[in-house]
Amino acid sequence: MDWSPEVTERNPGDSAQRPVCIVGGGVIGLAIGWRLARKGAAVEVFDLSTAGRGASWAAAGMLAPLSEVGFEDEGFLSLGRESLRLYPQFLEELKEDAGVEVRLDTQGTLIIGLDRDDAERLRRLCEFREHLGLPVKWLSGTEAREIEPLVSPRTSSAIWIPDDHQVDNRALVEALKTALRKCGGTLHENRPVEAVLNEEGRVNGVKTEEGEIGAACVVIAAGCWSKQIGGIPKELLPPVRPVKGQIITLRQDKLYSLPHVIRAPDAYLVPKGDGRIILGASEEEMGFDTTITAGAVYRLLERGWWAVPSIYDLEIQEIVAGLRPGSRDHDPIVGKTTIEGLYYATGHYRHGILLTPATAFEVSDLILEGRSSGVFAPFGPTRFLPAGESAVGW
Ligand SMILES: Cc1cc2nc3c(=O)[nH]c(=O)nc-3n(C[C@H](O)[C@H](O)[C@H](O)COP(=O)(O)OP(=O)(O)OC[C@H]3O[C@@H](n4cnc5c(N)ncnc54)[C@H](O)[C@@H]3O)c2cc1C
Repeated sequence: MDWSPEVTERNPGDSAQRPVCIVGGGVIGLAIGWRLARKGAAVEVFDLSTAGRGASWAAAGMLAPLSEVGFEDEGFLSLGRESLRLYPQFLEELKEDAGVEVRLDTQGTLIIGLDRDDAERLRRLCEFREHLGLPVKWLSGTEAREIEPLVSPRTSSAIWIPDDHQVDNRALVEALKTALRKCGGTLHENRPVEAVLNEEGRVNGVKTEEGEIGAACVVIAAGCWSKQIGGIPKELLPPVRPVKGQIITLRQDKLYSLPHVIRAPDAYLVPKGDGRIILGASEEEMGFDTTITAGAVYRLLERGWWAVPSIYDLEIQEIVAGLRPGSRDHDPIVGKTTIEGLYYATGHYRHGILLTPATAFEVSDLILEGRSSGVFAPFGPTRFLPAGESAVGW
């Protein structure tokens, strides 16, 4: 393959100087595109509408592998921690290329309980994390209020997780767009990819309304829409569905100070450096519907208010609904498919902002050097193939 950033040939039949085509300009597609472009590859990223305005825009930006790990979820924990470890380097290099700083907020996370049942549940969660050797601390309600005086006086107990961080996901998306372009990549907005093209069993381009574009390889990073791309055999499409999340932005005034991420039963509050507090989020199986509903908003406000009563007086700045790309097992789908030249980077569900650096490093290394770090080994595209069909192609 020739990785010249000069894209001179648009005929899918000719293999010379074709770019990597990325379908989807959310945080995942943009980050992969930027990493490839910064290494001199020719890159073309396509988005259905304005890039970065899908789930990546709606997200709260928590980078929380320790808070999120479930009892059967240790594979996710290693991946999430690795991605969080990569974040400082990722943001440093992004700053070099984009010329803007996206700050990693390391104030830490407090998971609070509000009654006796919550305390019992949190105790089990805390013991599990201690058993895994994770840096967490059990707190009484009083100790929790010493760390974060704005949490409810009803707070019965808490887990303090200093190593779960957060980032401004909207600033991240904008910086990635700038860095991609400055490194020589091309971003085509309002240009949906209709289908992946192939010749003799390998991917060689994409089809859009404006025509066909030749590609050395294609990455599907179209979030919850990844299953809708044409040209891929049905049984090989990534099993991804939309999981709706409604989320509210509150605005804190100058006198109000909530520095830490607060996670409470059925709600979380994520304060951003610019005065926004993100209160989220519902989790609904509603297909591609993004209607804002009274019930979800009522419930979020109520649960947020139970956790931090003083939000009562804050202005509501925005309410949006985003669609998380949920895979069948809720884990990401990242890596080489059984079709030559076709890669998947999708299914990041609730953790796409957290998993952006790991995904971008992995997919760019796979494409440019054929090298895998191994962190995505349990999360490859072939795990969903029916037994005995691991070599299925065109
Ligand atoms: C309410 C909510 C809160 C969240 N909070 C967090 C959090 O705190 N931490 C965290 O780590 N994650 C969080 N997430 C999850 C995270 O937002 C997602 O996992 C992540 O944004 C997925 O990124 P993506 O690029 O795969 O998808 P998206 O951002 O949805 O991008 C996919 C893009 O593909 C484009 N596209 C679709 N079809 C086509 C096509 N045919 N051709 C071209 N382009 C196409 C779309 O227009 C879109 O821009 C949250 C999600 C939601 C909804």
